[in-house]
Amino acid sequence: MNDSSPRAVRVAGLVKRYGDRTAVDGLSLEVTQGEVFGLLGPNGAGKTTTIETIVGLRSATEGKVEVLGLDPVTDRTELRRSVGIQPQQAALFDHLTVTELLRLWRSFYQDGAEVDDVIVELGLQECRTIRIGRLSGGQRQRVLVAASLISRPRLLVLDEPATGLDPNARQELWQAIRNHRGVDRTVLMSTHSMEEAESLCDRVAIVDHGRVIACGTPESLVRQHCASHDVTFTVAAPGAVDGLRALPSVKGVETETEQGRIRVRVQTGDPDATLRAVLDRVPGAQELGTRSPGLDGVFRKLTGRQYENAA
Ligand code: ATP
Repeated sequence: MNDSSPRAVRVAGLVKRYGDRTAVDGLSLEVTQGEVFGLLGPNGAGKTTTIETIVGLRSATEGKVEVLGLDPVTDRTELRRSVGIQPQQAALFDHLTVTELLRLWRSFYQDGAEVDDVIVELGLQECRTIRIGRLSGGQRQRVLVAASLISRPRLLVLDEPATGLDPNARQELWQAIRNHRGVDRTVLMSTHSMEEAESLCDRVAIVDHGRVIACGTPESLVRQHCASHDVTFTVAAPGAVDGLRALPSVKGVETETEQGRIRVRVQTGDPDATLRAVLDRVPGAQELGTRSPGLDGVFRKLTGRQYENAA
């Protein structure tokens, strides 16, 4: 990110309280125009509340929010032309077909995409004439995202868009998001999926307890916070790995018995050297692999908790 690049979203010191519950607790972030920016965090971290405040559906208790240079609450009508939001299920008309619904949605905007193009982009060809009320959960989810894309908005805001999608549909959705992104087209999305964040987002903010605890490109966050990688393999006898513990780059060795073999995880600062050492010194090592700790590791490092148990 270049410091002088225009910002699509600026959030400074956002606090949102519901009664005595603090959902967002001094959250600050800036989304650069033209990037795909992900909000990543466990259940209840405050992602949806932040997104709803950014699009003007909720007002901030404290702090400042600016979207495309406008105030999302007082300038909501003007912003609606430039911001595409994945609509809530309740807003859909169950008796309309997919094509009818998207045509209706398209009619709200002066400029936008061809309905047919968006249908193809999201792999909805076979659903064109099916009524919304009869779609599967994943098909419905894709129609919601299609509706948010139809105006080709300058800022596309998606709250967990891949929820309930099968792997193919998820790939199509990711491609549609990548296609949408452009010089003046920004995407802000929340996700629970580290894989989605790593594959799709230019930058991510990891949110925990209503605050941003880390922000940057996925690679830079991993580099900055997780110096070690895992080298994994299986062996027949536990004693075979003893020699690895003394290697200077090795930070820890964990073993676990699985179906009669021992699965070994070596945490190391130098995965290449450790792999070579395993090949040289551990007789009968099989299923060798290396794994970067990824954003999961960043979360674990910064909070001391596993992401999946974090809520
Ligand atoms: P998830 O990943 O589960 O969607 P999230 O990160 O989007 O979670 P939010 O939905 O923003 O989190 O919720 C943050 C906190 O605020 C939670 O503790 C939630 O219970 C609370 N909260 C959200 N909406 C309301 C509301 N309308 N009234 C009271 N508390 C709320």
